[in-house]
Amino acid sequence: MPMKCLKEVDMSSKKLLLDEYQRKYYDVEIQYQMVGTVEKRIYVDEMAQFVDTYYDTDYLDKMGIVSEEVGEDEFHNNNQMFAEMVAPDRVEEEELHADMEVTDIFVAGSSEGSERDGEEIWECVICNNYFSGFGNNPDPIKDDGDCCDACNTNQVIPARMSELFEEQQRNFTENMS
Ligand SMILES: [Zn+2]
Repeated sequence: MPMKCLKEVDMSSKKLLLDEYQRKYYDVEIQYQMVGTVEKRIYVDEMAQFVDTYYDTDYLDKMGIVSEEVGEDEFHNNNQMFAEMVAPDRVEEEELHADMEVTDIFVAGSSEGSERDGEEIWECVICNNYFSGFGNNPDPIKDDGDCCDACNTNQVIPARMSELFEEQQRNFTENMS
């Protein structure tokens, strides 16, 4: 057994007895559908500068807007279409979140879990005992989940070592042929 420093933070998994009281919970995922309304003022006397900077004549042609008429000091179709085209691009992030209205709520699903003293409890995917604290990656013994320290030491690490050894053997044989 290696000596343990007294102040060492305990990063290992703790084995739990299942008859001890556990708080059970459901983590429920809720999705909100929202509508946000923003009013954006576009000044006619500022339009001409946008035509050069952000939107070129070819693009406006494609949108059916006569670029020479954009920014004329009048109310007409081309100015209105241009205003409606540039306004969404000029909305700031803060303006967007200011006035949100929830239109629908879905519950996407839920997952079960349990905790004791505020700590999550998980099952070792190899020995099926219950633990709290930090688990270990069980690859290559299992594809997902966590395994306990004992299984990590006794099964996972030896399996990785032998995989590594086999790979070295393969490379060695390939190099010889
Ligand atoms: Zn285990």
